[in-house]
Amino acid sequence: MKETMSPIKAPKALPLPHSSKPHHLPATGLCLLLLAVGCTPSRPLPSHPHPIIIVDIDTLRAGHLGCYGYHRNTSPNIDAFADEAVLFEWAFSQAPNTPPSQASILTGLYPGTHGMVFDEDRVANSAVTLAEALRDGGFETAGFHDGGYLSNTFNMGQGFALYDDNKGGGLNRIGPKVFAWLEQNHEKDFLLFVHTYDTHTPYAPGPPYDEEFLEGVPAPSPGFEPTSEVMNSIRLSKYTEDPKQLPANDIEYAKAMYDGDILRVDTWFGTFMEQVRELGLDQRATIVVISDHGEEFQEHGSVLHEKLYATVTHVPMIIRLPNAAQTRRVSTVVETIDLMPTLLEITATSIPPQVQGNSLAPLLLGHQPDTPGIAFGESPFFGGRRHVTIGDLRLLLTTSNKRTELYRYQEDRMEQEDISKLCQNEVEALVAHIEDWENTVRVPLPKDDEPAQELDEMTLQQLRELGYIQ
Ligand SMILES: [Zn+2]
Repeated sequence: MKETMSPIKAPKALPLPHSSKPHHLPATGLCLLLLAVGCTPSRPLPSHPHPIIIVDIDTLRAGHLGCYGYHRNTSPNIDAFADEAVLFEWAFSQAPNTPPSQASILTGLYPGTHGMVFDEDRVANSAVTLAEALRDGGFETAGFHDGGYLSNTFNMGQGFALYDDNKGGGLNRIGPKVFAWLEQNHEKDFLLFVHTYDTHTPYAPGPPYDEEFLEGVPAPSPGFEPTSEVMNSIRLSKYTEDPKQLPANDIEYAKAMYDGDILRVDTWFGTFMEQVRELGLDQRATIVVISDHGEEFQEHGSVLHEKLYATVTHVPMIIRLPNAAQTRRVSTVVETIDLMPTLLEITATSIPPQVQGNSLAPLLLGHQPDTPGIAFGESPFFGGRRHVTIGDLRLLLTTSNKRTELYRYQEDRMEQEDISKLCQNEVEALVAHIEDWENTVRVPLPKDDEPAQELDEMTLQQLRELGYIQ
């Protein structure tokens, strides 16, 4: 757990903190914290069981939402939701791709710990998921997901009494099931997890969304369509003797289609929130919008999501408490593994001791931490990559050759200016953070004895359609 990290010895000249996240609070710790900081909130956080709804929009880049500063009006309904919620401006995913990152959201663990790192891996049975913790606390648990790597083949469904694998189809297929389930179960205490690939490739929003953002966009190359196959062929071409990039007009067209996908999902979300209100769940439920990673459009030479740059690892994380009890924007750096302990704390549910995220309850209340937040991420590809984000600095490390990149990501949003050569002290301190994390925190859970299940043909076909396998 992070709070047991041994102190990191940063160079004296560099006042970086060694354990910079707010301390993990037990369920009863919140009141003590409030006394300590002399804060008496007029609308305290819930500290009792109540419904939890998570809307997990796969491949949703934070910077493409209005509430995160995007110039296009892609997200009017999510923006309105954020106005009634706590929006974390700098939330980072623990990995740039779906399997490890989604598993981190569901377990509160780093990928190296929960074990789902490569595509053929699965979440360790010994991981205690959010759904398991809430189920054991007496909650009804239901997950409606879009298949692929969310399938239970990868052990993602641990703890869900109902784990409905839609094997594609997006919200058109999932939405009606979710609405029907809520009609039946809205009076209970429950965890409802809704996941969609609608913002993943293929970028094909369909009318009217496919024309919404075309103004000023140059015509794409004849025949170009941003399908999974086309985008993946660009991504994979770097491993060939003929690496390819999309021309600027095709990239801009792909972005316009991606943004159309976001607007389509946002429209669904507006309808969903209407039903939530009709059922009174806006008064009773905590509702979360989150994503597992963003998407690259050649800001760093490639497409899709495989690198640790902020275009891919900066994700939306927005938490609306019952009755919109707290509304604010939080600038502290947080991680998606923090969601699980946060939700467990505000539902007065025991937090499994293995959980590596920290509860964000103090930040929901507006408490200013003494030290900046910190986030870690990892990828086994490209020589083994790691990122640490702390304050306004992000360090990317390639473990195989110790290459480093350093960015002031808040002002250099596309991370184009590597300042590592100019800031050697900061680089050394941040590399020390990663090494300490690697040695003391990112410790694997025991491997399962049972072999991984073979993928069924429908799952294989869906992974092909998403562009993950050939
Ligand atoms: Zn994903």
